[in-house]
Amino acid sequence: NSNRQDRDKESNVQVLLRCRPLSDDEQRLNVPKVISCNEHKREVTVLQNVANKQIDRVFTFDKVFGPKAQQRSIYDQAISPIVNEVLEGFNCTVFAYGQTGTGKTYTMEGGMRNKGGDLPVEAGVIPRAVRQIFDMLETQNADYSMKVTFLELYNEEITDLLAPEDNSRSTEDRQKKPISLMEDGKGCVVIRGLEEVAVYSMSEIYTLLEQGASKRRTADTLLNKHSSRSHSIFTITVHVKEATVGDEELIKCGKLNLVDLAGSENISRSGAREGRAREAGEINKSLLTLGRVINALVEHSAHIPYRDSKLTRLLRDSLGGKTKTCIIATISPSAHCLEETLSTLDYAFRAK
Ligand code: ADP
Ligand code: MG
Repeated sequence: NSNRQDRDKESNVQVLLRCRPLSDDEQRLNVPKVISCNEHKREVTVLQNVANKQIDRVFTFDKVFGPKAQQRSIYDQAISPIVNEVLEGFNCTVFAYGQTGTGKTYTMEGGMRNKGGDLPVEAGVIPRAVRQIFDMLETQNADYSMKVTFLELYNEEITDLLAPEDNSRSTEDRQKKPISLMEDGKGCVVIRGLEEVAVYSMSEIYTLLEQGASKRRTADTLLNKHSSRSHSIFTITVHVKEATVGDEELIKCGKLNLVDLAGSENISRSGAREGRAREAGEINKSLLTLGRVINALVEHSAHIPYRDSKLTRLLRDSLGGKTKTCIIATISPSAHCLEETLSTLDYAFRAK
C-alpha cells in the first residue's frame, strides 16, 4: 500500500473517472442505477446483485467525478495543471476512454456551440484549453503562436479532419491524399501532409470542431458506426518566444493532444461476431496497445511498445518521459451497461 502511494506521487499518469447522469429517456423509463460515486473518497462503487446476494465492488482513482460534476470543475481540477505544463514547453496528452454513449465527446468537446463572448457552461476540454492558453499568454504579453491539427484514426489509417474540401477531385482521390507518419532524428513525431491551422481567436475553435464533426458525420452515413470505431486527435501546438540572444531566438514549444478514443466496446465484444473481424482487430490493436504502453510507463518498464500501433506511434513524443498524461474514463450509471462499465473500470484501474 505504501508502495502504491509512493508510486502515485511520482506518477506522470493520472486516471480520472467520470460517470454521466441518466439521460431524460432513461429517467422516464426508470432505468435502474448500479453506480455510486464518492468524489471525496475518490471511489466508485458498482452495486451488483448476484443470486440475491449483494456483491459490491469498489474502485479507487486519482479523481472521481459523479453525475453532477460540471465541465468546469473537471477542467479546473484535472486539465488546467496539464495546460500549464504545455506552456512550460512539455508535450502532454488527455484521453477520453469509455463505452459509446458515456460522454467522451461531451467531455472533450462539450455540448454547445459558442455564440461569442464567454464559454458556455457545457464547453468541454478543447475550448477550455484553448481559452486558457490565450488568456495566459495574452496576460504575459507574450510573443506566441498557436496551431492546431485535427485527425482521425480508423483501421490504423489517418484522415485529416481539417483538410479543405476539394470538389474538383473525386472522393476516392481525396481519400488517397497521402499522410505519412515519421520521426525526426530527435524523437519528435512528424506527420506529413496534415493541415496545420493557425488560430488567432477563441471563436475559431468552434468552427474547426464543427468542421471535424461534419466530416465524421459524413463518414458515419457511409459506414455505420464509423465514429464510434475511430479515434480522433485534436492537437494544439504552442510556440512562445522566450528571448533573443544575439541574433538567435529562443523558442519554447509545447504540445497538447486531446484524444477522443474509439468506443471501448470495440475491445470487449469481438467484432468477429458481427463479421467484422479485421476491423475489430485493428481497433483492438490501438486501444489494447495504448493500455500496454501506459502500463509499461507506470511500471517504469525498460521496453515501451510504442511501435505496436499507429495511435501510440502518433503520440510517441507526448507519452512517457517528462510528459503528463491524463486518462478520463467515462461510464454510464445504468444497469444495462454494467458489463461494459466493469470492463472500463478494469482497463482504467490497470492504467494506474
Ligand atoms: P460518446 O462520445 O462517449 O459516445 P457522448 O459524448 O456523445 O458519448 O454522450 C452521449 C450523450 O450523453 C450526449 O447526448 C451527451 O450530451 C450526453 N452526456 C454525456 N455526458 C454527459 C454529462 N456529464 N452531462 C450531461 N450530458 C451528458
Ligand atoms: Mg463520441
